[in-house]
Amino acid sequence: MRTQVVIAGAGPAGLLLGQILHHYGVDNVILERRDADYVLARIRAGVLEQGTVDILTSIGVADRLVAEGLSHDGIEIAFGGARHRIDMRQATGRYVTIYGQTEVTRDLMTARAAAGLRPDDGQSRRRAGHGVRCRGRPSERLRWDKPISILR
Ligand SMILES: Cc1cc2nc3c(=O)[nH]c(=O)nc-3n(C[C@H](O)[C@H](O)[C@H](O)COP(=O)(O)OP(=O)(O)OC[C@H]3O[C@@H](n4cnc5c(N)ncnc54)[C@H](O)[C@@H]3O)c2cc1C
Repeated sequence: MRTQVVIAGAGPAGLLLGQILHHYGVDNVILERRDADYVLARIRAGVLEQGTVDILTSIGVADRLVAEGLSHDGIEIAFGGARHRIDMRQATGRYVTIYGQTEVTRDLMTARAAAGLRPDDGQSRRRAGHGVRCRGRPSERLRWDKPISILR
């Protein structure tokens, strides 16, 4: 198998990078040591800053986020027996969106599959760096000898 870019890890960073590269016509594969179900069930973040939402929107994977996410215009800090509101939208014109990282991951995996990018071969999981061999300069050619897990 040959590709232009190999991405280690199908967390939000790897999946987003894969989608951005695809958006700009750069072939890529993502190696992930865990299976897709594990990655999707791994509960983590829930707050997306607007820059993240803007990037997801720009590559066409924010439809569900926009439909289901909750916009928060500000935060409240409690001290001295009172709550003090900081209105981010009023101060900066920007806000945060409450939307689970698992759902971002799901949306990116769905977009990757819809784009026809390499499917998971389902045969084994492989850590990046094990079984991946570079021939020539890495930017030119990559090759590995056995099936590896490539997440959609
Ligand atoms: C409890 C918690 C709450 C959080 N809340 C927020 C929040 O509200 N807002 C926010 O913005 N952020 C939050 N974060 C941070 C956010 O979850 C992380 O910044 C984000 O997960 C980082 O994404 P990533 O893709 O860089 O790394 P990860 O999500 O860690 O993904 C890395 C992936 O690489 C895989 N991997 C690692 N090594 C290899 C290898 N050698 N070969 C193949 N695969 C490999 C791993 O299995 C993993 O799937 C929170 C984090 C936690 C833990």
